[in-house]
Order: sequence, then C-alpha cells, then structure tokens
Amino acid sequence: MNQEQRLNYLEAMGIQVWLPRRSKHDVPDEDYVSTESVIEKPCETIIQEGDRSDKIHTWDNLSTQVRTCTSCVLHKTRIQTVFGIGDEHADWMIIGEAPGAQEDQQGEPFVGRAGLLLNEILFSLGLQRSAVFIANILKCRPPNNRDPLPNEVEACSSYLKQQVELIAPRIILALGRIAAQNLLQTRESIGRLRGRVHYYQSIPVIVIYHPAYLLRSPVEKRKVLQDLILAQQTLGKVSFSENHTNNE
Ligand code: SF4
Repeated sequence: MNQEQRLNYLEAMGIQVWLPRRSKHDVPDEDYVSTESVIEKPCETIIQEGDRSDKIHTWDNLSTQVRTCTSCVLHKTRIQTVFGIGDEHADWMIIGEAPGAQEDQQGEPFVGRAGLLLNEILFSLGLQRSAVFIANILKCRPPNNRDPLPNEVEACSSYLKQQVELIAPRIILALGRIAAQNLLQTRESIGRLRGRVHYYQSIPVIVIYHPAYLLRSPVEKRKVLQDLILAQQTLGKVSFSENHTNNE
C-alpha cells in the first residue's frame, strides 16, 4: 500500500490526517516529539541468535504452561487461556490488557469491534495483523471485564516477559492505560504516557489509546495517528542504530 492509499484509508477511518513536516533530509518533526521521546540508548538484542529449534521448543513449552496455568484465581472462570497470536519473529508487538468475553470464547486476543479497529490501526502502519504479535498482560479473562488485580498481573507477568524475550520485537505498542501502567510499572495517566518513548526490557514502547476507547471516543483517533507516527520514527531510529552497530 503506498502512502496515498494509506492516507485515503485513514481518512476513511475518520482520522483527520496529520503528517510531520519533513525536510529534504527527512528529519522528524521536533515540534511534536518531546525531548523525552529522544532515544537515549540503542535497543539491545534480548536474545542472541541461537539454536532455532531450542527457541521453538521453548515457545511450545511456554504455550503449554499458559494453557494449563492455575497460578491465579482467573483460571476458575475462564473458558480458555488467550496466549496471543501472530508472527513469533515480529518487529512489532502489540500488548493489550486482558481477554474479554469474545476473546475468552475464541482463544484469540482482540476480536470483535475493537479487534477490527486494531486491524485498521495496523493497516494504517502498512501491517497485516498476521505480521505482528498480539498479546495481553493477562492470559485469562477477569470476570465481567473488571480491571486486573495486582496479584493477577504479578502471577501472569513472567509469561509476557518470556514472550517478549523470545519474540525480541523492535518496538512495542501498549494499548490503553491498564496495559501501559502494568508494563511500565507506573501509575501515570495515559494522557501523560502517550507521546513519549518508554522502554520495557530495553525495547521502545509507545502508548496509544485502547481501540475499545476509540470506539467510544472517535475524536481521539487523531492522537493515535500522532502516536503511530512517533512509533514509526522510533522504529526508524532503532533500525538506524542496529545498522550502525552492525556496520562498525
Ligand atoms: S491470568 Fe495468567 S497467571 Fe492467572 S491463571 Fe491465567 S495464565 Fe495463569
């Protein structure tokens, strides 16, 4: 999809298109990116290239552990666990809060209307859903979609940590306040967290509004577009940093 098609698509989504100014050297728009968003350290490779079969074996073990997990009370009310879906070698990892009712039934994160909107957000980045990896902070649905409890997040956190280590994405999108706060170990509001680059296991994290919130407040889609541009700029810097290091 070329840029013109993508812009048309964003407009079709109801997003007023906003683009960063670019010089002939393609310098990011400094007016938008706060000083906190400047990458101060290169993305470190979490997992060295190793035996691919070992990695697959570890991934399968992790999947089995999650499927049979009873480490918190949520195992009593779930229909099934929701491990995550997508490319296990993806550059982009998408992390949400927890499965909802439809996800609990289907065993897949971000299905339903919020999932469709997430697909559109990914599409605006030129990404198919299958090209990223989508996971949640919690692998089991909290009853009545209540917020995850701290002990549940703690019990489940090692699974997400291992997923991130194995996938070794170049960038993470945290969807919504709950995902962002738990991932980044902060109580800051999403309004303060978005628009900046954070880190989880040395991987850059961009916080965007949750698709379910965007369905209720479509006017906020414009801010998501700004955050996606920040994510693309950040990924560009990570790629440059990696290439630079590799060429040294
Ligand atoms: S939410 Fe996580 S820790 Fe709790 S039972 Fe499900 S997989 Fe286990």
